[in-house]
Amino acid sequence: MAERRPGRGARQAARPRLMTACTEGLIATETTLLSGIRYLKGVGPRFASLFAKAGVETIDDLLYYVPRAYTDWSRISRIDDLRIGDRVTVVATVLSCDVARRGRLRTFVAALEDDSGAIFARWFNQPWLQNVLKTGTKAVVSGEVRFDRFARRTEFINPVFEVLRETEAAELVHAGRIVPEYSRRRIRGLVKSALDRFLDDLVDPLPEAVRKKRSLPGIREAMGEIHFPPSLERAAAARERLAYEEFFLFQVIVALRRLKAAAGGPAIRLDWNGREHERLLASLPFALTAAQARVIEEIRGDMSSDRAMHRLLQGDVGSGKTVVAAAAMHQAVANGYQAAIMAPTEILAEQHHVNIEGLLGPLGDRVVLLRGGMKAAERDAALALIESGEADVVVGTHALVQEGTRFGNLALAVVDEQHRFGVVQRAALREKGTAPDLLVMTATPIPRTLALTVYGDLDVSVLDELPPGRTPVVTAVRDEAARKKVYEFLKGEIAGGRQVFVVYPLVEESEKMELSAATEMYERLRKKVFPEASLGLIHGRMRPEEKDAVMERFKTGEIDLLVSTTVVEVGVDVPNATVMVIEHAERFGLAQLHQLRGRVGRSGLKSYCVLMVGTGASDEARERIQVLADTSDGFVIAERDLAIRGPGEFLGVRQHGLPRFSVADLRRDVRLLVEAREDAFGFVEADPEMSGDEARLVSGAIERRFRDRETLIDVG
Ligand code: ADP
Ligand code: MG
Repeated sequence: MAERRPGRGARQAARPRLMTACTEGLIATETTLLSGIRYLKGVGPRFASLFAKAGVETIDDLLYYVPRAYTDWSRISRIDDLRIGDRVTVVATVLSCDVARRGRLRTFVAALEDDSGAIFARWFNQPWLQNVLKTGTKAVVSGEVRFDRFARRTEFINPVFEVLRETEAAELVHAGRIVPEYSRRRIRGLVKSALDRFLDDLVDPLPEAVRKKRSLPGIREAMGEIHFPPSLERAAAARERLAYEEFFLFQVIVALRRLKAAAGGPAIRLDWNGREHERLLASLPFALTAAQARVIEEIRGDMSSDRAMHRLLQGDVGSGKTVVAAAAMHQAVANGYQAAIMAPTEILAEQHHVNIEGLLGPLGDRVVLLRGGMKAAERDAALALIESGEADVVVGTHALVQEGTRFGNLALAVVDEQHRFGVVQRAALREKGTAPDLLVMTATPIPRTLALTVYGDLDVSVLDELPPGRTPVVTAVRDEAARKKVYEFLKGEIAGGRQVFVVYPLVEESEKMELSAATEMYERLRKKVFPEASLGLIHGRMRPEEKDAVMERFKTGEIDLLVSTTVVEVGVDVPNATVMVIEHAERFGLAQLHQLRGRVGRSGLKSYCVLMVGTGASDEARERIQVLADTSDGFVIAERDLAIRGPGEFLGVRQHGLPRFSVADLRRDVRLLVEAREDAFGFVEADPEMSGDEARLVSGAIERRFRDRETLIDVG
């Protein structure tokens, strides 16, 4: 069995060589499951390259290219019993046939007969059928029975069929059964011949124990039946088995990744200092929410164990993640170690610095800021404090993970707004200590399925409760017709001393256009619409210092209305801002809109979000956006977003680590994912070296199934 395992190297090397050998006729090479699909009869280079684009290169890949739907032609009827509207199959002989011409339209008509009676069938524009369905030919014909008003008789129109040959033990492929539908009709025949020849060569990658536990059919049965199912129930069972397999293999990767992360040696064990924690709580102007207390408890468990913490904290905008992080960091300090928190932008780092200094400074922790734009002397001073260990808590941007930054004794690394950082930066920050605890925080509510896949190597905590006293942001969807009214409303808020965000979507075609559109809008608003107010503009082409300066002026209240084309910079706390206007809301994802909305309503002030839809927006888009007006629950919104746009879109290009599943569907197969995850983690725990026979089969399958997906390459 082990010889069958195709290493990636072997696979790649084998293909070109096989070809020369064949074309030169030197060696009689055997075609195997791992040969390119062009070794199948009827596959030319053009078709092969088309397939390659869909990730189908080998015959094995082709087998995993499962049907997207089925048509049930399994009901067989006598011709005599046919009724208009039936979708059935008849087994009949061609009694007579002809090609009828009307203008340029050529129609092949055949009279079909069985023991019980006869019926006409008509195929448009397929005159060549006269060479296939000749008089006397026996065929299986499947289609819908219709009434032709001109001919005044019942007929099949464009039915599918399959010629029966006396000599062959006929197994139906295209008609008279449950017929699989692929992206192209031709694929059906190819898959059939691949199955006929190679099905018995398939080796089940799923460990037997797992298969038994979940009562899953074996690979040969499942593979045969997903393509040519005896019933739709069996097709569904086969699909489940293959989806499970895909999840299982992926979760093995996740489990290995996690193992690797934990392999950095035993973690520093931090004793939870209850007295210090009480001091922190006593200094807060509020009581923790139940969710915050629960998550801190989870973190406490991680920190005081020998294994490094590896936890994702999800919490909607405003759910109070900062205090949770501060509580954890304070514990590291109470144990004599350092803690660090990394934010994606300078502004956010600064904001954290102010907040965390405010929380932990009074308790005696020394909080130090490190960011890119610092003057050399300032930075050197900060770096010295960090290296000597005098800095207890370090707040910074990705400057934290740069080479020159050395920590005295880092025991806890916190990454804020994880979705803006990649796996690499996360790892880089951990490198700064010896197996420090890691807490990553994100305000993007991630549906459970995605959390288990993308962040599958992390434990997940959720802040599912907002601090009390928040009034939901009043959200309205408006179009051009209401623009004037919207502006009037903004004027009123500004006159009342409040501040306003106006966000424009990125125009993808060109940055230049984006800039000019935003600038134009800004100028118009400034001169024509709000001449009395003070306006500011932030766009993607400004340098970070320029953005910071504008943001600072907004924070201090010097700017009343901020026009922004970039979403990132809006991620700051301006409690006095009460209105968020989003132009062309239809161009944003729901999760992103929700994020933006979270920028207001951060104080007791009544706040508003106005979603402006462009004139060109479809009804569908409006309906989608309406979800925002209907709910303020980030998870509900995320689930809806995922359902509407699919996982790839949902996460956007910045997300790494999400494979393209070919069978499994992250939207429907949650239960399978959870089961596969449990089984995969158990499997890896039992054989962490992946050295047993079953593990080798699993590794081989991982390489085949996920080979082009960059996430997986570093699994080792
Ligand atoms: P986010 O999760 O978006 O990072 P923050 O940590 O910035 O949220 O918290 C948002 C606001 O809520 C802050 O002003 C913070 O002081 C406040 N806050 C946090 N926890 C509570 C609480 N339990 N009760 C009241 N206010 C809280
Ligand atoms: Mg935050």
